[in-house]
Amino acid sequence: MKLSELRRRLSEAGIEEADTEARLLFSHVAGLPVHRLIGGDPDCTDPALEDLLARRLDRVPLAYLLGETAFFRETYRATPDVLIPRPDTELLVEEAIRRIPANARVADLCCGSGCIGISVLANRPDLTCVSVDLSPAAVALTKENAERNGVSGRISVVCADLFALPADLSGFDAVLCNPPYIARSVIPTLSPEVLHEPTAALDGGEDGLDFYRELAGRLPSLLVPGGIALLEIGYDQKDSVTEIFSDAGCPPVIRLDYGGNPRIAILSRP
Ligand code: GLN
Repeated sequence: MKLSELRRRLSEAGIEEADTEARLLFSHVAGLPVHRLIGGDPDCTDPALEDLLARRLDRVPLAYLLGETAFFRETYRATPDVLIPRPDTELLVEEAIRRIPANARVADLCCGSGCIGISVLANRPDLTCVSVDLSPAAVALTKENAERNGVSGRISVVCADLFALPADLSGFDAVLCNPPYIARSVIPTLSPEVLHEPTAALDGGEDGLDFYRELAGRLPSLLVPGGIALLEIGYDQKDSVTEIFSDAGCPPVIRLDYGGNPRIAILSRP
C-alpha cells in the first residue's frame, strides 16, 4: 500500500489527523523514520500495514497500534491494559514539578502507565515516588516505563486498591492522582477510541466522584501535615470536587487547562 492510499483511507473514514497518522503507521511498519516520508509516496507491501489500518478503522487508538506515545518530555509504552497518557494530564505534571518541595517522597495513585510519577521524577532528580495501581498489568507496565525513562532507581511500584490501601502507604509529602472520574452513565457516550480503553480506568462510579470521596477521607493518613495533593478532575467537576475536599478541611484551588476547562485540584493538608 502506498502512503497516499493509507492517508486517503484514513481520511475517508473520518480520522481527523489522517495525514499524521498515515505517516506514523507507515513509518512504524516500514521501519523508516518519519522524515524520510516527506515529499515522497513510498510503497509498503508488508501485510502488517493493512492489518493496522483495519484496526485503526475499527477505532483502535493509534497509541495502542504503535505501542507507544509521547507524554510531557518522555515517551511511554502504551497497551490496552491502561489509559493512554493524555496531553490534558501534562498540566498536572507541570504543576507538580513546580510545586513539590525538595527531596519529597511522592505517591502516584491509580498510576496506569505510570506516566505522571515517572515524568515528574524524570524532571526532578531530587524526588522519589511510590506508584500504585490496582491492576497487575499496570504495575508491570509502570515498571517497564520507569526503566525506559531512567528513573527505576527512584520509584517503587505497588499493586494495591485505593479503597483498601495498605497502612504503610502513608505520610507522603505529595500525592498525585488521575483517578477514574467519568460518571458511569456517560461512558457509553464516549468516543469509539476511548471505548477501546479499559473501563476500570474511566469509571468513577454513579456520579464519577467515588475516588475523590475516598481520597478526601484518606488525606490525613496519606499526607504529612503541610503535604500537597494534585488531582486531575473532569471539566464539569470543579464545584463538586471543591465541596468534597472543603468538607474534609482541605479547600482546593482549581486550575484551568490550556483549553480553559477546570482540570486540576491542588490542595494541602493543614
Ligand atoms: N480524561 C479522560 C477521558 O476523557 C478520563 C480520564 C479519567 O477518568 N481519569 O476519557
